[in-house]
Amino acid sequence: MDRFDVIVLGGGLLGSSVAMHLAQRGVKSIAVLDVDLGGRYSSSELNAGGVRATWRSEMNVALSLASIEFYESVRDEVGFDQKGYLWLYDDERWSAACDAIKWQNQHGLGVRALTPDQVQQHCPLLDQLDGVAGATFSPRDGLLNPNLVKELYRARARAAAGGGVRFENYSYVVAVDPEPDKVTVRALKFQEFSPAGDQAIKAILCDAMPPDEAAAVKLTADMVVNCTGAWARRTAPLYGHVVPVRPVRRQIAIAHARDVDLRPYGMFVDTSGVYFHRESTHILAGFADPDEPDEYRFKYDGERWFEETIWPALASRISRCGQMKHRSGWSGLYEYTPDLCGVLGFAPGHDRVVEAFAFTGRGAMQSWAAGRAAAELVTARRYETIDCTPLRPTRFADGELVQESLSI
Ligand SMILES: Cc1cc2nc3c(=O)[nH]c(=O)nc-3n(C[C@H](O)[C@H](O)[C@H](O)COP(=O)(O)OP(=O)(O)OC[C@H]3O[C@@H](n4cnc5c(N)ncnc54)[C@H](O)[C@@H]3O)c2cc1C
Repeated sequence: MDRFDVIVLGGGLLGSSVAMHLAQRGVKSIAVLDVDLGGRYSSSELNAGGVRATWRSEMNVALSLASIEFYESVRDEVGFDQKGYLWLYDDERWSAACDAIKWQNQHGLGVRALTPDQVQQHCPLLDQLDGVAGATFSPRDGLLNPNLVKELYRARARAAAGGGVRFENYSYVVAVDPEPDKVTVRALKFQEFSPAGDQAIKAILCDAMPPDEAAAVKLTADMVVNCTGAWARRTAPLYGHVVPVRPVRRQIAIAHARDVDLRPYGMFVDTSGVYFHRESTHILAGFADPDEPDEYRFKYDGERWFEETIWPALASRISRCGQMKHRSGWSGLYEYTPDLCGVLGFAPGHDRVVEAFAFTGRGAMQSWAAGRAAAELVTARRYETIDCTPLRPTRFADGELVQESLSI
């Protein structure tokens, strides 16, 4: 049986960030367990790479801003392309957006309100602004490469802890038993048997069906940090915490339109809710379909979804997108909570289990600061930098939700 100081469940952006911060705080032995460290179904590998501090709650601004300051410091290593968010508003939402700017700029975000004419000057490609009352432009926001961020966290974890950090692949956690002096974690360890490996991983992550030939392993630690993202709905009950986390499929399309080069710009958010940005010389576009059921599923609806959802929004903003061609796409999971904000804190009734999951559409951009906060709880048992108490897991039962109205 292996004994560690800390076991991290899940090695996505959150788990990798937690491992890095723990190692940098001097924790000597850390195990990160994941069904698939490559993350082929993890949200960390399937997101849009957007980074913004333009939120409307103190909590989200604080976590995003601290993370942005880190991404600025490793700009080239993580492909941080700080070209802002251009967010278009209709009449109904424009006055609330204007009200928020003053407050956002007290946090040094430098957000500007743009008239439709100024939007066209900013990006002449946006030549159809019907229904646009105005836009906000936030220059400190931008795009990054989430895979590079995750690999950076892992490399820094290894650099700080040396052989003391173990990233354990193909390890499916099936039991978490907190005891007075330790936490025992049981996992099923399987071999990668590509090309069937992909089906095995999918069977685990969608249907909780591990391969028959998996070997049972038992590990113990002083502390456990649960970073299983959308799978927290399954893993938190292992230690008795039933969490209101909903896995919801979100799709992204890649398309191409002649003479539409979005590389000089950052993220665009349309009044329709469709967001888009450059993907090399192509366009990446996504939309959070409100009718999507709660489910672990990854099927991409392809051309039909693109034609019905993405194309109408883009073609009505950019006339050159009228002839846009669908190329490919994918889907990943959002991890919704009742207030659409992440969960961070000690699991209810446990002082050896910290939870850091369900960061919905902001887990990439907030992963650096959220990981630091979780590491503070593990090592100091309190927050030392950003007070993340508003994200405590008990807030749903207490009815003290975070007030955030700018989720995509
Ligand atoms: C389409 C889409 C677009 C998005 N766009 C953005 C964006 O622009 N900006 C942004 O900041 N965020 C965005 N997000 C959200 C962001 O991707 C997530 O919030 C973030 O990646 C969550 O990271 P995580 O480490 O918590 O979870 P994950 O990356 O999902 O990692 C969880 C890990 O836990 C593992 N796991 C699960 N169960 C077990 C188990 N029992 N045993 C062992 N391992 C287990 C999984 O294999 C997985 O690797 C988007 C998400 C999607 C789906």
